[in-house]
Amino acid sequence: MDFQFSGQEEAFRQEVDDFINKELPASWAEESHYWPGGYGTIPDFEELDPAAERFRRRLAEKGWLTLSWPREYGGAGRSSMEQAIFNERLSYHRAPGPGVATLISGPTILLFGSDEAKREWLPKIARADIRFWLAYSEPNAGSDLASIQTSAVEDGDDLVINGQKTWSSGAHVSDFAWMLVRTDPNAPAHKGISLVIVDNKSEGITISPLINICGFHSFNEVFFDNVRIPQRNIIGERNRGWYYAMAALDFERLVVPVGGFKRTFEELVQWAAETKRNGETLTDEPLIRDKLADLAIDIDVAYMFFWQTAWMLDRGLVPNIEASVLKLVATQLSRKLANTAVDVMGPYGELERDAKWAPLKGRICTGYLDCISGLVGAGTSEIQRSIIAIRGLGLPWGGS
Ligand SMILES: Cc1cc2nc3c(=O)[nH]c(=O)nc-3n(C[C@H](O)[C@H](O)[C@H](O)COP(=O)(O)OP(=O)(O)OC[C@H]3O[C@@H](n4cnc5c(N)ncnc54)[C@H](O)[C@@H]3O)c2cc1C
Repeated sequence: MDFQFSGQEEAFRQEVDDFINKELPASWAEESHYWPGGYGTIPDFEELDPAAERFRRRLAEKGWLTLSWPREYGGAGRSSMEQAIFNERLSYHRAPGPGVATLISGPTILLFGSDEAKREWLPKIARADIRFWLAYSEPNAGSDLASIQTSAVEDGDDLVINGQKTWSSGAHVSDFAWMLVRTDPNAPAHKGISLVIVDNKSEGITISPLINICGFHSFNEVFFDNVRIPQRNIIGERNRGWYYAMAALDFERLVVPVGGFKRTFEELVQWAAETKRNGETLTDEPLIRDKLADLAIDIDVAYMFFWQTAWMLDRGLVPNIEASVLKLVATQLSRKLANTAVDVMGPYGELERDAKWAPLKGRICTGYLDCISGLVGAGTSEIQRSIIAIRGLGLPWGGS
């Protein structure tokens, strides 16, 4: 096995690094409170940051926001491996980058959307003109997503939507909902769902903030009261939305910030190497060396799965089980990184980001809280293990 990048890939990696170093403020990575694998510390989820928006526009101008999309829809026609290299570099620099529209909705429209839908939505996404949020979960539908109740009823050329979504990350800073609705209440649960796009400015939408465990306004409850959308906003076939959403969830699970793990790990090792406790440098302590070595192995494992999924996509293979494995490995690593950092730093690791003595700008304390979110969002760890057991190992559906 040869894990080397090709010359072209190496050159691209360098080009991405150079671009990020030129276009982002020099202190960006150091100042960021983003925790890799967390959903609650993504800065743009709280409020739009002008520097992040500028950077995203520059990416769009180069076609890099939608790197592996076809050129006719504003992409750069690059390989999935180059897309993975790009994502890895962005996360290493804690750079703002592609979001729901570019990573989840766009690829799903490319696969299942009509030509009309592709022409309508993809160029706007590629130009960074519009932002999407994910409107799947409801108060009584999370893991059991097929039990959503929000309804969309036909009325002339429109659909009329009533119901509620929850845990809606970034809904308050987005333009459109990428949304699952029930279009046939009489069909079996999975077969009566459609995937639609809803304009946030539509009359009848109320967005109400939810403050997350880290103290940020990252998600919301969203209420739909007789909201009208044109029927042409249905993506793909009516009542096939469940199947499209499953593909979209796989896209979401492939978005793993391996570079972010590596960066935070490097900072932790450096901090331990520069810090003494009882006259001894922390990196000389066997227990700490053990913990750091253990983490280094896990980070390498996450990288292996990460490159593997890109390799598969370039060969036309569908990384379905692999998406669940990668999501599980990465989110467990996110938690282990936070736990290990708190162990290594002791009470310093618990200091919040504004505290005078907080190491790494308080990222460890925030990360310790935020790392839980990754274990829940985009399907919990238990659900990923079920998918691996059923689809990967061929075990029968569980339950007594
Ligand atoms: C930070 C964050 C951001 C989020 N952002 C969004 C968003 O933008 N859009 C959106 O639509 N949703 C979002 N979600 C919602 C997320 O997808 C759901 O929370 C998740 O799917 C779990 O659903 P639930 O919260 O209803 O928990 P439940 O489904 O009620 O699960 C509770 C517990 O039971 C376990 N469990 C449930 N069913 C099974 C089973 N069959 N087998 C084994 N164990 C099971 C779960 O693993 C979990 O531990 C977000 C969640 C978080 C935490």
